[in-house]
Amino acid sequence: MEFMEERIRKDGRVKEGGVLKVDTFLNHQIDVKLVRQIAKALKEHFGDAGVTKVVTIEASGIAIASITAEEFGVPMVFAKKSKSKNLDANVYRSQVYSYTYDRFYDIVVNANALGEEDKVLLVDDFLANGQAMHGLLDICDQAGAEVAGIGICIEKSFQPGGQTLRDEGYDVCSMAKVKSLENGQVEFE
Ligand code: 5GP
Repeated sequence: MEFMEERIRKDGRVKEGGVLKVDTFLNHQIDVKLVRQIAKALKEHFGDAGVTKVVTIEASGIAIASITAEEFGVPMVFAKKSKSKNLDANVYRSQVYSYTYDRFYDIVVNANALGEEDKVLLVDDFLANGQAMHGLLDICDQAGAEVAGIGICIEKSFQPGGQTLRDEGYDVCSMAKVKSLENGQVEFE
């Protein structure tokens, strides 16, 4: 989407290690009008898919998922990052490797928040190696929920997550696809 590429060109900052900072408009200070545009684009793409819930991971996905859920007229659920290892029978739990923090963490969703009757749209701010998405897919699988598709604000297509998910048969809709962050420059596909 042109609007997303334009905003990244204007306000995105490239950091060491292939990291793109977007914290002035997407995941710290948030341009809600931009998020509304993202939500409308996702509605345009997935509007006929019978979505019953929008699901993301805290914290960066929450604003995007909330406004997207409002566009669809369905609830939003965010997987919580859990520090406790207790094996609560009433939660779905999965493990995710964090690209930005270089460590593993658990994510949990209450069993009463997701079930067999749900058709889920998964959303997140970034898609890089696909670890966060695979954690959410694992939770949907445990819940018996169907996945309608995956909506991403910024896909880093020089990392394998997007291709892997498409190869697995998922409909991945990304607002912008970044093919390189080399030499501090953002290049789009
Ligand atoms: P993945 O699990 O696909 O490897 O990475 C996705 C998660 O890592 C996202 O939830 C996002 O928070 C974080 N992430 C990955 N790459 C970047 C990046 O370049 N910039 C920022 N701000 N977050 C990133």
